[in-house]
Amino acid sequence: MDLELTPEQEEFRKIVRAFAEEVVAPRAEAMDRAEELDPDVLDLMAGIGLFGLPFPEDVGGMGADYLTLCLAVEELARVDSSVAITLEAAVSLGAMPIWRFGDSEQHRRWLRPLAAGERLAAFGLTEPGGGSDAGSLRTRAALDGDEWVIDGTKAFITNAGLDRSGLVTVAAVTGERPDGRGEITTIIVPAGAPGYRVGRKYRKVGWHASDTRELVFEGCRVPVANTLGERGSGLANFLRTLEEGRIAVAALATGLCQGCVDECTRYARERQAFGQPIARFQAVAFKIADMEVRAHTSRLAWLRAAAKLDAGQPFSREAAIAKLHASEAAVASAREAVQVHGGYGFIEEFPVARFYRDAKILEIGEGTSEVMRILIARSLGL
Ligand SMILES: Cc1cc2nc3c(=O)[nH]c(=O)nc-3n(C[C@H](O)[C@H](O)[C@H](O)COP(=O)(O)OP(=O)(O)OC[C@H]3O[C@@H](n4cnc5c(N)ncnc54)[C@H](O)[C@@H]3O)c2cc1C
Repeated sequence: MDLELTPEQEEFRKIVRAFAEEVVAPRAEAMDRAEELDPDVLDLMAGIGLFGLPFPEDVGGMGADYLTLCLAVEELARVDSSVAITLEAAVSLGAMPIWRFGDSEQHRRWLRPLAAGERLAAFGLTEPGGGSDAGSLRTRAALDGDEWVIDGTKAFITNAGLDRSGLVTVAAVTGERPDGRGEITTIIVPAGAPGYRVGRKYRKVGWHASDTRELVFEGCRVPVANTLGERGSGLANFLRTLEEGRIAVAALATGLCQGCVDECTRYARERQAFGQPIARFQAVAFKIADMEVRAHTSRLAWLRAAAKLDAGQPFSREAAIAKLHASEAAVASAREAVQVHGGYGFIEEFPVARFYRDAKILEIGEGTSEVMRILIARSLGL
């Protein structure tokens, strides 16, 4: 399988890198401190088409592939993981299920403003009682005439509380299957729907500028036309969406690894100790060499998973391998990047301090490392 980028993808990577360096990086520390994204950054991201990348042009997208979306996520994460996860959650988790499982009317009504970046979508699966065990949902939806009435709470939902948050896709139990397990259906809940309340922002260890909230549904009413895909297909559709999303999370982790390499290379050449740049000490240079190996192998892993997805081949195993490897690589590289910076690594003005706080969630979100190991072991017949 050819993992070389096409000339168009190479060109696109350069455009997003320049955007990340010129627009995002100078604002990253302030956005982290304010725990808020600068809306101008979102407007500018929309302006270069990032929110519509993997969708066809006839629904308002850019007509690129999933791999190209991951390239954008990687380049943004090289300087700011909060901005990168906002894009990943909006497109891969939020809008993608509407594209993949929605009908043409839902594409017209919901997907177009998402692809334009005028609105952002959120993905409402996790609940306070559990995320890994996605089948054990407590949120219920019952039909009342031609409306769903939804009751329940979702936890840790990204992108639901911004001014431009447009909708959340909610996984809810809508009945019982013949085997006694819950029938799960996906329902689109627009911002402002009656009975839908967006809760407080969590105080997080990292991803400070990314919006993460609890969502409460109390007798929340939406038309039955907001059902996404077949009734009862919700769990399968959410799991498929998560599988794809793992590739983008691996790309995000790769970007963080690359950011560590670049920040440390620059710092180690400048910082002097014992009369010479610290880069001359093998103990320091080897740490950066190890970071480079992690960035390189993580990139190969997500590229392969994305290439398989775009080729219509099975990709679940490769996605799990990429997500597990890249997220653990990001945590290790961020820890070492702080070490290379010495005391300054513990000071917030230096990006590696933020990278250190931002890395840990990569081993948890969109499937924990333990869940990834379960999936990989299962793929070996264990
Ligand atoms: C910042 C942030 C953003 C998020 N964004 C979203 C979002 O937009 N939408 C959304 O739906 N969710 C989102 N999540 C939720 C995230 O996907 C879950 O936190 C994650 O899936 C883990 O679920 P949990 O927190 O309930 O942990 P649990 O499932 O309770 O797991 C706790 C521990 O037990 C382990 N464990 C669980 N089951 C097993 C098992 N069978 N074998 C071995 N170990 C196991 C886990 O690996 C973990 O170490 C977000 C979370 C955070 C923190």
